[in-house]
Amino acid sequence: MTDSVLSCAADPMGAAIYDFHKNGKADVLRVFSSQFEEDEIPVADLFREFEDMPELEQVALEMASGKILDVGAGSGCHSVALQKMGKQAIAIDISPLSVEVMKERGVDVRQVNLYDPAFSEKFDTVLMLMNGTGIIGCLDNMPAFFERMKELLAPDGCILIDSSDLRYLFEEEDGSLMIDLADDYYGQMDYQMQYKDVLGEPFDWLYVDFDTLAFYAEESGFSAELIAEGEHYDYLAKLTVMK
Ligand code: SAH
Repeated sequence: MTDSVLSCAADPMGAAIYDFHKNGKADVLRVFSSQFEEDEIPVADLFREFEDMPELEQVALEMASGKILDVGAGSGCHSVALQKMGKQAIAIDISPLSVEVMKERGVDVRQVNLYDPAFSEKFDTVLMLMNGTGIIGCLDNMPAFFERMKELLAPDGCILIDSSDLRYLFEEEDGSLMIDLADDYYGQMDYQMQYKDVLGEPFDWLYVDFDTLAFYAEESGFSAELIAEGEHYDYLAKLTVMK
């Protein structure tokens, strides 16, 4: 693995989540990238309830079954929704402040890095939502990601993961793509977040189109099924170990 996962030394997103949880409002959570203009994450959206979630997320929550692992759970919005549905969710996140908020919200949560081998339970569903492929970081990390998933999945378990195909950013008016094939894959982003005076470490964040995800899945002995497509090049995939 590279050091592509978010550092927990400085925890800007956790600080924003913590503020919102305590005060019902938060400052601007800024996102910087060498590929984009400065952007913002609306902190209230991180606390979305089932009714306000994108349809792809609702479908994933409906499909999730058995013992469910909510990876990179943030404010715990999906785990809370799953609990309300009477399902068994365990959340993990590397952000200490997010974990504290989730504890206060009654989520069964551990402060754990997805790749920490000491975390060795088995799950029927591994849920990775809000561009869940982001945590994979870059295409080179795909084999390590799938090996880790084999350790965490119970027999007949599955991964439910969403992402977007960023090709629309490179599309010309005539539909042709302005992508330099000699460059890195176009969905590999570098991000850095800031909340108030807390500036996080830069980290890699992967958006991946379904075909590329399916290719890497198969290389690692998984099959990928396209479950649903959203309105803007986004999709939900189900990944299972090939028999
Ligand atoms: N799933 C949530 C939050 C998405 S933001 C939602 O849909 O609202 C991504 C989250 O993943 C952040 O809270 C971040 O701290 C966490 N994260 C990033 N890398 C991680 C890793 N390697 N292991 C566990 N959590 C991670």
